[in-house]
Amino acid sequence: MIAFPVVLSAPSGAGKTTIYKRLMAERADVGYSVSCTTRAPRPGEVDGVDYHFLSPEEFSRRREAGEFAESAQVHDRAYGTLRSEVQKVLSAGRHVMMDIDVQGAAQFARAFPQSVLVFIIPPSIDVLVERLTRRGSEDRAALLVRLRSAQKELHEIGRYHYVVENDNLDRAVARVSAIIDAEMARRERAPALDEQVAGLIARLEQEITNYV
Ligand code: 5GP
Repeated sequence: MIAFPVVLSAPSGAGKTTIYKRLMAERADVGYSVSCTTRAPRPGEVDGVDYHFLSPEEFSRRREAGEFAESAQVHDRAYGTLRSEVQKVLSAGRHVMMDIDVQGAAQFARAFPQSVLVFIIPPSIDVLVERLTRRGSEDRAALLVRLRSAQKELHEIGRYHYVVENDNLDRAVARVSAIIDAEMARRERAPALDEQVAGLIARLEQEITNYV
């Protein structure tokens, strides 16, 4: 089985991170890539586990050296995915779950064209606004920024292979999980399929000669 990246994108408040965490906990065949960021660690966050926390200078140096599969400015801070992190997970035979924003997702898909792109949508804008205000951390100005970004992000939905409505968390997690299973069964992803089928056809030929 060939492992591939699974990119989850969504407007903030659609429940992407919760879905991502649930899949990480439920499936042994998925892993995650530790992103780089120039933002400061929040309480409890560990360098090298939650993010690689880099200075802006170090971030620029690594970007110029071509180490990132994608990078983007999100809410005024730089974020990026190291190619080496993604390769590490894929080489271990695990699908890499990518929790990246919409701008980053398009660049990432160019670097890793075998990626599956999944867009999570909220069941309604009322639910989105309700989830954002329930977090309590958003003042009116910050909320406005998020609503405007949500609008921009929805315009990009045409780049995605799948859309999952997060009307119910269990159902949304099950749907993304089913997408991974279906993608694993895609003919184009099967390694050495031609040889395998040629072997089956040759064996059938022998079997047929026994009956004629
Ligand atoms: P936070 O700072 O709250 O951890 O993340 C803020 C946003 O940055 C989230 O929307 C998250 O998806 C996005 N993000 C996290 N890591 C990356 C990354 O490596 N690349 C990109 N483009 N976005 C990222």
